[in-house]
Amino acid sequence: MKFLGVSAAAAVLLLLLVLRVTSCAPLHPQGAPGPDGQPLAAEEPPGALQPVTADCRDPGWTAAAQANANALQTLAWAPFGRPETGWEIYVPLIQHEIRTTCPANSEGFAAALGIWQRAQQQGGDGILSETAFLAMKSAAQTRREFVRFTAFGACPETPDLITAAQIAEGYGGKPVWLRPRALAAYRRMVAAARAAVPEAAADPQMLTIFSGYRSPAADAARCQAEGNCDGIVRARCSAHRTGLAADIDVGHAPGFTVDSSADPNRLYMTRTATYRWLVANAERFGFVNYPFEPWHWEWTGEPP
Ligand SMILES: [Zn+2]
Repeated sequence: MKFLGVSAAAAVLLLLLVLRVTSCAPLHPQGAPGPDGQPLAAEEPPGALQPVTADCRDPGWTAAAQANANALQTLAWAPFGRPETGWEIYVPLIQHEIRTTCPANSEGFAAALGIWQRAQQQGGDGILSETAFLAMKSAAQTRREFVRFTAFGACPETPDLITAAQIAEGYGGKPVWLRPRALAAYRRMVAAARAAVPEAAADPQMLTIFSGYRSPAADAARCQAEGNCDGIVRARCSAHRTGLAADIDVGHAPGFTVDSSADPNRLYMTRTATYRWLVANAERFGFVNYPFEPWHWEWTGEPP
């Protein structure tokens, strides 16, 4: 009985850690890369998305679609601990999880969400709730190797080998480093993104890396000097110490920087074609996103 209590407490603790952990901490994507980060999974097969009509109409889901449309810009919540209004920022993530391309205010989206909810034994009303989103967030976090590795307080050693990216691969020519296989996978992903997304092909700065490997000592020094410790995450154990995390330029709103977590900036980022392509395709190259930071991607092809 006592053992059961301890086990239950440990399970709850693990769940809380997975839900709360930030870009400092990682887990494994479903489409894990093969040797050298070559994607194992092919392009998403046709028909993999939820079967909804081409125009995303589905009369059975009108009321749910209206409820989603109402909450999209008004829901008061704090899915990452900081109060937010609305869930527009997370629409690409949610569409990815429920496997639809229908707009968040559409009947087709509600229908796809209803199917997902039933599979998760979360009812099936097609209305996005905080509970549903936290389950999706947990799934996304669980794909980050770093989150799983650090769930019980461990912090990865710094890597033996890191490689300098080319000058053109750093944001504004900034020197950046990644582990060799992560860098190779990044290059394959960027080439595919530029082939598929006109805005990424047109702007050479798009998809450049503004932060890769960071030494723990440098992070700690910066944390002290700037009083900016990312909620102490940076000082304690940043994912960037692994050499597997890359902060990637996915665009930024006028007046904001590429790493600003202000909500209007994050919303802008998640609307870019580049970010949306990454959400749909990065896992094929072994990269997973920390959903609070549209720019933060981690390669999962080797342990942190
Ligand atoms: Zn980052």
